[in-house]
Amino acid sequence: MSATESGSPVVLECEGIERSFGGLKALKGVSFAVRQGEIFGLVGPNGSGKTTMINVVTGFYPPQAGRVHLFGQDITGMRPYRIAQQAVARTFQNLALFRGMSVLDNILLGRHVHMRPSALASLCYWVWAAREETAHRRIVEEIIDFMQLQGIRDEPIESIPPGLQKSVELARALASEPKFLILDEPMAGMNQEEKEYLARYILDARDERGVSILLIEHHMDVVTSLCDQVLVLSYGEAIAQGPAREAISSPAVVEAYLGHRAAQRAGAIA
Ligand code: ADP
Ligand code: MG
Repeated sequence: MSATESGSPVVLECEGIERSFGGLKALKGVSFAVRQGEIFGLVGPNGSGKTTMINVVTGFYPPQAGRVHLFGQDITGMRPYRIAQQAVARTFQNLALFRGMSVLDNILLGRHVHMRPSALASLCYWVWAAREETAHRRIVEEIIDFMQLQGIRDEPIESIPPGLQKSVELARALASEPKFLILDEPMAGMNQEEKEYLARYILDARDERGVSILLIEHHMDVVTSLCDQVLVLSYGEAIAQGPAREAISSPAVVEAYLGHRAAQRAGAIA
């Protein structure tokens, strides 16, 4: 039985979200809810407002209208670092890893939300700091095991293939021990094998770690195999919503994608 049918509690609720950039309305009154234990897909052609939506949820772009509730708390307008402290983690559409650092150290950065503001000062109190460091490392080692990244843990991040770097980003997000995880096109640029590898860990994160997930994706095969519920955006508007397979086969969605491809062919959009 899916999370939706079981009536699990709502973890994220967005109501009537509006966001413009200059004259461009990127989101026009979008509402949806994600339930605990769900993998919720946010789908739509390029430029439809998906990334803007998660920037609203994570506090990077406060909405001009509408409300965002997370775990029952109104977080509208809250600063991004405060939202990150509410057990929310995200990965970015473009890789956001630190070159010059190892895979292990990049994952360790995911622990920063749990480090005290005085973490730097604590370096002086070496006994305490060493204990703290050990605890963070233990959690990171556990994530490395979980995602089977042992073979590359000490490699410099820039020396591993881009597909695997995306997995490291997921590992870093999991290292913060989120209850809610937002993934922005985690499979972009991946080959089939890499997509299957990552899909397995996204499912395991939900099934074994109990994380609720908001997944932005435009590979439809990934959406139908991973997502319980889906919201489809087109030009900032919700055009379909519901169980994955039904939502993405609705006529409005098929038309939005076909129209998008026709516009692409005519060179009107990227
Ligand atoms: P998607 O992630 O679905 O591809 P985006 O949310 O990135 O779409 O973009 C939605 C629309 O908002 C696009 O037309 C895009 O150009 C515009 N947009 C997004 N972010 C900004 C910004 N910071 N400034 C101006 N326009 C933006
Ligand atoms: Mg995007």
